[in-house]
Amino acid sequence: MCGIFGYTGAKEAVPFLVEGLKRLEYRGYDSAGVATIEKGKLFVSKCVGKILELETALQQKPIKGMLGIGHTRWATHGQPSHKNSHPHEDCKSELVVVHNGIIENYLELRVELIRRGHLFKSSTDTEVLSHLIEEQMQKKQGDLTHAVRLALHQVRGSYAIAVISEH
Ligand code: GLU
Repeated sequence: MCGIFGYTGAKEAVPFLVEGLKRLEYRGYDSAGVATIEKGKLFVSKCVGKILELETALQQKPIKGMLGIGHTRWATHGQPSHKNSHPHEDCKSELVVVHNGIIENYLELRVELIRRGHLFKSSTDTEVLSHLIEEQMQKKQGDLTHAVRLALHQVRGSYAIAVISEH
């Protein structure tokens, strides 16, 4: 288990997210990532390795926004890799999830979601959350809080999550 950090306010989110993740570094991690929303559009940056490497990536390709989430990952399901790093997107790249912990029933949920047409980009347990929330967002017409609550009714395990959506 590692770290989650979120920011919403009147300033740019990325410096807060990076600083927050640095303060959680002592917990150990294998990869790191952040996501922001600016002008209704989602932006993601992530990498395997140290937060220093994430900072370099963010300097080369900055992302902006006054709302964001960040994550340091300690892989439990799926090897440390770029595609397995958090945040994890839904099919339409409209929402992202960061997660600490384990979704115990992720395999059966994954099979069901694929059967319903969802496209998975990673081999993590976490990504089922992105797609479950995506489905509930469609049913609940963009009410993120409600959608997250309903999605979590379907999972078993131990988890802390943060979710942001363009909606
Ligand atoms: N189970 C998730 C993964 O392997 C989250 C691990 C964590 O707590 O960092 O990506």
